[in-house]
Amino acid sequence: MNGVDEGRMNREQDAKRVLKEYFGFTAFRPGQEELIDAILEGRDVMAVMPTGAGKSLCYQIPAVLMEGITVVISPLISLMKDQVNALVEAGIEAAYLNSSLDGAAYAETLRGLAQGQYRLLYIAPERLLRDDLLAQIGDIPIPLVVVDEAHCVSQWGHDFRPSYLQIAAFIRSLHDRPRVAACTATATTKVKEDILRLLDLKEPLSLTTGFDRQNLYFGVERPSHKSEALLEYLAKHRGQSGIVYCSTRKRVEEVAELLCSHGFAAARYHAGLEDRERHGNQDDFIYDRKTIMVATNAFGMGIDKSNVSFVIHYNMPKNIESYYQEAGRAGRDGEKAECILYYSGQDVRINTFLITNGADAEERDDELVQHNLELLKQMTFYATGSECLRSRLLAYFGESSPHYCGNCSACNTLYEEIDATVEARKILSCVYRLKERNRAFGKTMIIDILRGSKSEKIRSQGFDTLSTWGIMADTTAQRIRAILDRLLDQGYLVMDEGEYPVVHLAPRSGEILTEKKSFVVKLPRPQAEKPEKVSARSGSGAGLPIGLGSADGQGGAFSVTKIIEAQDARPVDEDLLEKLKALRRDLARKGGVPSYVVFSDAALRDMCVKLPENRDAFLAVSGVGEVKQKKYGDVFTALIREYLADRERD
Ligand code: ADP
Ligand code: MG
Repeated sequence: MNGVDEGRMNREQDAKRVLKEYFGFTAFRPGQEELIDAILEGRDVMAVMPTGAGKSLCYQIPAVLMEGITVVISPLISLMKDQVNALVEAGIEAAYLNSSLDGAAYAETLRGLAQGQYRLLYIAPERLLRDDLLAQIGDIPIPLVVVDEAHCVSQWGHDFRPSYLQIAAFIRSLHDRPRVAACTATATTKVKEDILRLLDLKEPLSLTTGFDRQNLYFGVERPSHKSEALLEYLAKHRGQSGIVYCSTRKRVEEVAELLCSHGFAAARYHAGLEDRERHGNQDDFIYDRKTIMVATNAFGMGIDKSNVSFVIHYNMPKNIESYYQEAGRAGRDGEKAECILYYSGQDVRINTFLITNGADAEERDDELVQHNLELLKQMTFYATGSECLRSRLLAYFGESSPHYCGNCSACNTLYEEIDATVEARKILSCVYRLKERNRAFGKTMIIDILRGSKSEKIRSQGFDTLSTWGIMADTTAQRIRAILDRLLDQGYLVMDEGEYPVVHLAPRSGEILTEKKSFVVKLPRPQAEKPEKVSARSGSGAGLPIGLGSADGQGGAFSVTKIIEAQDARPVDEDLLEKLKALRRDLARKGGVPSYVVFSDAALRDMCVKLPENRDAFLAVSGVGEVKQKKYGDVFTALIREYLADRERD
């Protein structure tokens, strides 16, 4: 074996050892091993991986293995404490420097730094140059600087932070240039280019892992009353932890109040709250004192709470990137979780308004406004289309995928392909006849005319004399709307998004109206019943709707199988799981840390499967490293032994 291979093998062994010893995991996730190896080899890296994919380990493991101290630049000081707590729990010395520390704690941390006590130091970007970190660290080498949430350096990203622009200068000021690792979940080309350039990465290993999160279910709903839909959903998911995102502070207030008045343990979060309340509410959520967080998009970056079971968007975000990042906060521990978007046309109008007239629109150039409008269009497309939602998301991130995932609302609603040419022609004619009278209206009015409404509004304007009045009297409004939406989607009609959005003919309208082109679309079956969930999970694929997935060629069939596996959560004894959770809660409370810092839900589930009765068996549980085994092994195995003995007796 030559020296290069040998070096690599040693590095791999070291990395594996740390993975088990400290973090309690036996296998790397996609991309982790390559990134760790590149860092250990001395290279810069750029890791583009979805939220929850496990970016932290990619730099924490090298930090354990390398001489000196790894500096982690992270945007949210309020969360550094939790990240450091989690490392300390795993047996890795770490500290943070930010304004929340009082004088004594600050001095204490500096002392520890000077003595080389820590493997990792978390720091906010604002402090890098100001605090003259170098003078504090003295001779201790800095082998690695990590820039977490690296997209914050880019104007094109969604969380631009001017202070991130100082990072390159900080790195240049270091005596020996460290390796630089940039981590982000944002994958667009513009943002990636900015990261490379503005952080001055040197020939980095740039690794983008698949963006698919198989444990997440994606859904889009159009409830006529969002509040009722939400209450109904939460009632079915009582006790589970979740986030409800709203687009404005006002809406956050309303929804939080609504939930509390219905007896749900909900907290609120937005930038308009006093710091104290905001932090307090965030802690209530992280420490599971409140199960539901109602928040604007100000909440969440850097939140590593792993047991979030659902993320509901009460309003549609401005773009798919933000949506995927926010939704991706569900199911970080790999457990099944749901991401649901409540769509309404109103959301599109509000977002358009914010982009074109919003607070920061004036300082921004037209190009950026246009760019953002284009992104909004794609988001709207996601919400209103009829194709597999997962494939739409992945397509946005440049990944191809089969058009059937079996785990989204589009795939779970049975669609039928219908020839809607006649209906389409009727709808287009109606718009055409209105145009002849120099009038244009929104969807609802068009539908009313087609269905022959005799309302005052219609009669007073004489629309009941239009030749298209009542020509679709026997079609449901819902169905006309669905066809109208498809005509808009496919550019046979256009929507003028003014104050009162109105529908116009498009250059393409003629293809159907006069050239007799047919219009075939996929529409939900009338009164479609949801297929039994079992069908996609049965493992055989036999329950899949005909012609989907398996007929899709190799790629399709393969992916469907993979998804079935991912969903095939092992059944566990819920009684025992509850007991383990209660024990975890007590220990977390005593230790002053969030529950998930003690053990993730995934680890507790693995305990239910492996039923470890002694320390050695306990070490085999996923998520149990040596320090946690020593700290918690006895109490957890005692509980499990007692539980099993009780069960014997019954
Ligand atoms: P990201 O920063 O990419 O959003 P994190 O680093 O916070 O994600 O990791 C998300 C979750 O995945 C954490 O709970 C972490 O413990 C878990 N995790 C990371 N790597 C592994 C692995 N190799 N095996 C099992 N769990 C892992
Ligand atoms: Mg992270």
